Amino acid sequence: MTAMRQAFQATIVHCLEDPGEHSTPSAYEHFEDGLLVVADGHIEALGDAGDLLPTLGDDVLVTEYRDKLIMPGFIDCHVHYPQLDIVGSYGEQLLDWLNRYAYPAEAQFADPNHAREVASAFVEQLLLNGTTTALVFGTVHPHSADAIFEAAAARDMRLIAGKVLMDCHCPEELRDDAESAYRDSKALIEKWHNHGRLGYAITPRFALTSSAEQLTAAGRLAAEHPDVWIHTHLAENRGEVDEIERLFPARRSYLDVYDYYGLLRRRAVFAHCLYMDDADRASMSAAGGAAAFCPTSNLFLGSGLFDLSAMRAANIRCGLGTDVGGGTSLSLLKTASEAYKVLHLQDHALPAMRALYLATLGAAEALYVDEHIGNFLPGKEADFVVLDPAGSSLTARRMATTDTIEEALFALLTLADDRHVAATYVSGRVQHAL
Ligand SMILES: [Zn+2]
Repeated sequence: MTAMRQAFQATIVHCLEDPGEHSTPSAYEHFEDGLLVVADGHIEALGDAGDLLPTLGDDVLVTEYRDKLIMPGFIDCHVHYPQLDIVGSYGEQLLDWLNRYAYPAEAQFADPNHAREVASAFVEQLLLNGTTTALVFGTVHPHSADAIFEAAAARDMRLIAGKVLMDCHCPEELRDDAESAYRDSKALIEKWHNHGRLGYAITPRFALTSSAEQLTAAGRLAAEHPDVWIHTHLAENRGEVDEIERLFPARRSYLDVYDYYGLLRRRAVFAHCLYMDDADRASMSAAGGAAAFCPTSNLFLGSGLFDLSAMRAANIRCGLGTDVGGGTSLSLLKTASEAYKVLHLQDHALPAMRALYLATLGAAEALYVDEHIGNFLPGKEADFVVLDPAGSSLTARRMATTDTIEEALFALLTLADDRHVAATYVSGRVQHAL
């Protein structure tokens, strides 16, 4: 049987490594009239259309995306699907915001039908924003993980998620305990981890809402399953950091709490990482932990500014996260634009190609899935987004004044949104089209 082959013709751009603050040209590839050849859901070739088209057989269906821009599917390194319906809730910092908005929304997930309805709407929102992979928080309810995995599996998405662990300092109805957290998470790992493209993440909300017994149980589970992910929050807010110091006086730092309980390792992803010192960065780097940079959330909740240059200088894997509902958009384009501003306030640059890296290959590296996704190297899975630079009347005008791909991409990062996502492909199949 011959493989099913398709090709997509458009302007194509992808990253090969981190272009850095000076946008190293060898770190990315750009084909003005490019062709992406896909066979059985995987990348077969990428190059100039003029070179590749004559080599294809007559059986290959060529889809022309004239004046469009194809890039790897976006990867969201940190997001809460149960908070979809409270995005844009007014006026609190982290700990008050959780109590006032997030916890009541999550309590509604006691109803499995509600969980399924929101999970389905959430993955549709990911796809219409061009996001093909995400690392996702559920709620404390085990069926919240079932719901998001079922929704992702129905669309063949590479998605990582987990049930939240929280047994203290939170509302009674949202608590599990050390024993049930371990047992329920273990059952979910057996059910979903490596089921198709899905992966499981052990998901303690943060050290504030897990007892020492629960953190111990989470560490035991992590040790028993070295290839599952760990997903939590770290040093988002000064008030939170002060509470951690009070609750764990024997630990050197917030990160050291996670390290002590066996939760700092490869495939451990920490959202925010705003208040870290050099010793923390050195230990995170050495252990292979990764950071999710969530600029819209950090600005919206007044949390602080992520120091990307210090993190990358320490060789820490970093990707962008939307952190909806603390974050204000599921669009990685809008998230990258806010990342640019956060770095600008710290006298650092974020060129367009580095922003693209943080939303694609860098995020794939942070999640340890870069052997599968993140760019268009042959053999990788064909997850990609087709952007329409003329998706709004303003960007149509703006594109007329850009001369280079770097300028055009930067203007799109600043101005574009879901109106500019013409199509989203997952494993070579279209899952969203305008
Ligand atoms: Zn979060």
